[in-house]
Amino acid sequence: MNARVPIPVVADTGCENAPVLRERGQREVFCGLTGIIWLHRKIQDAFFLVVGSRTCAHLIQSAAGVMIFAEPRFATAIIDDRDLAGLADANEELDRVVGRLLARRPEIKLLFLVGSCPSEVIKLDLSRAAARLSQRFSPSVRILSYSGSGIETTFTQGEDACLASMVPAMAEAPAEAAELLVVGALPDVVEDQFRRLFGELGIGPVDFLPPRRSGAVPRVGPGTRYLLAQPFLADTARALEGRGATRLAAPFPFGEEGTTAWLQAAARAWGVSDERFEAVTRAPRERARRALAHHRERLSGRRIFFFPDSQLEIPLARFLARELGMLPLEVGTPYLHRQHLADELALLPADVQLSEGQDVERQLDRCLQAQPDIVVCGLGLANPLEARGMTTKWSIELVFTPVHGYDQAGDLAELFARPLVRRDRLVI
Ligand code: SF4
Repeated sequence: MNARVPIPVVADTGCENAPVLRERGQREVFCGLTGIIWLHRKIQDAFFLVVGSRTCAHLIQSAAGVMIFAEPRFATAIIDDRDLAGLADANEELDRVVGRLLARRPEIKLLFLVGSCPSEVIKLDLSRAAARLSQRFSPSVRILSYSGSGIETTFTQGEDACLASMVPAMAEAPAEAAELLVVGALPDVVEDQFRRLFGELGIGPVDFLPPRRSGAVPRVGPGTRYLLAQPFLADTARALEGRGATRLAAPFPFGEEGTTAWLQAAARAWGVSDERFEAVTRAPRERARRALAHHRERLSGRRIFFFPDSQLEIPLARFLARELGMLPLEVGTPYLHRQHLADELALLPADVQLSEGQDVERQLDRCLQAQPDIVVCGLGLANPLEARGMTTKWSIELVFTPVHGYDQAGDLAELFARPLVRRDRLVI
């Protein structure tokens, strides 16, 4: 078989010009500290020191499920009322905490100082603190800073802020070095699958940001072309472009169609022939299609409502609508980056209501009125909605579970099928 690869093109029915409901009311979204939970697993010699309050400590400890005897690679330096006496005190305290930590944990090679909401922390200049501490601990430890504050970031934007903070630390690649950079934290197993596919396609060298170890921070330059693996990386993309890199526009690698189009964007840039692309991707595509067929029966025709949370909502709605026949009603996103999502919006059904930001009470009213079969939302809304008879899916699971690429397409569909199956059984 040598069929041409059906690459998604801008569909007549796309959503790219659809009106967007913009809301600026109360929102129910985790703050950017949450990203530490998956980032500390990904960069294996990094440590995340939250400079924050007891609330911040509770958030990451409960979200990450820390065991009491474990040596986690994150902690909170609690800046409380004591430090209001003066910024010098707070800075000295921070230096002492970092000194103690690095003396006790010599395996740490990259330390992130992570800012948070409390006013005492906002007054601290963490980028200056990072520069000061870097001088003291360089070259054995690199110290960077970013904000995970709930005032500035939602849920997945913590990853964006973290990766953006790494860009200035990337070495300069020569202009003639044509390299592919995949941007966005992916589970190692998914990264290995993509690396293998790029290798078989003859695309490379390929690097990933974030790296698994701090010593492997990739380089960047005018020859770097990058693919976003996640839709919430606006600041990182801007920083990379500031270093001369060029984005390869593509839908995101969710499902068979999204993964094919994503790989195809790199294949085009590297001049890979259609025949080679077809030969390399045929088997995994067929595997993905088979895995999805099983779930399509359960999901087709089911109506789904997305509350804004992870910024994955639009790519997921596209995947569920096009590959599983689901009917997205409202697709909410905390922020809508039109440029990065252009290929996704073009593929969404035209009658989808897009919303950006949140006015949670009004959105709850719309959701209850629409009576969808399943609601994707944050943890804070899931229980109240379940209590009203709704079936929910926690959006945080979509960030923690390997869902990118061909071999995860079936697992991704299953995440939506499982709560519906459970609900059907309860009703019977
Ligand atoms: S950063 Fe702000 S929103 Fe997040 S846990 Fe700390 S105080 Fe709460």
